[in-house]
Amino acid sequence: MKLLVIDPGHGGKDPGAVSNNLKEKNLNLLLAQLVADKLSAYDLKIILTREADTTLGLAERVKIANRSGADFFLSLHVNAGAGEGFESFIHTSCSAQSQASAYQSCLHRQIMAGLAKHKIRDRGKKRANFYVLRKTKMPALLLENLFLDHPREAKLWQTKGFPPLLANSIVCGLVEALEISEEGKNASRDHKIQDVFYTVQIGAFRHRQNAEKKLQKAKRRGFHDAFIQAVERSP
Ligand SMILES: [Zn+2]
Repeated sequence: MKLLVIDPGHGGKDPGAVSNNLKEKNLNLLLAQLVADKLSAYDLKIILTREADTTLGLAERVKIANRSGADFFLSLHVNAGAGEGFESFIHTSCSAQSQASAYQSCLHRQIMAGLAKHKIRDRGKKRANFYVLRKTKMPALLLENLFLDHPREAKLWQTKGFPPLLANSIVCGLVEALEISEEGKNASRDHKIQDVFYTVQIGAFRHRQNAEKKLQKAKRRGFHDAFIQAVERSP
């Protein structure tokens, strides 16, 4: 089973961006929890670098990911600085053929598609020398989910339906990137296999009359519940 580390940026003493009565650290955690929640239906192990409003250094986040042997590291942030829109980052050293780049493409495309009705500006798939991208040993991606200091985007974040919509889009990207399936699908397959009964066979005959003879013999020997079952054989 694959292992995903989700890293809600900032936390505790470090609020991250602060604007329009919003603190980035809270939005990152909310989003991480929504994503983890939705992913619980899938064949995937998930570790959150923080599950509460706690202070956590960048080195500690990387340590959690590297120690766990995760398959993918996803860091969640919200931007600020007088811009607008969504952007995603992999490390500057990643080639276009890298796993990180492939994951970035899946998530970026699914997120932009999921947010299409809100006409979010696509700032592009980018590379940066961020610490958590540089030091993690597995493919790593950092998302900047809109701008807290942009009035429309801050308002969007405060709309009830928006965080779940964004979380859904991230999950769609992860499902595609990590090629994971819902646990429920496997479970229903297993369920069908359980609906099995076992027959004891004492002969198989091409002609019905030979089967009748064997049946009579079986009944004489005391197997009174023996019966003939016609089975079609595929060519
Ligand atoms: Zn941040």
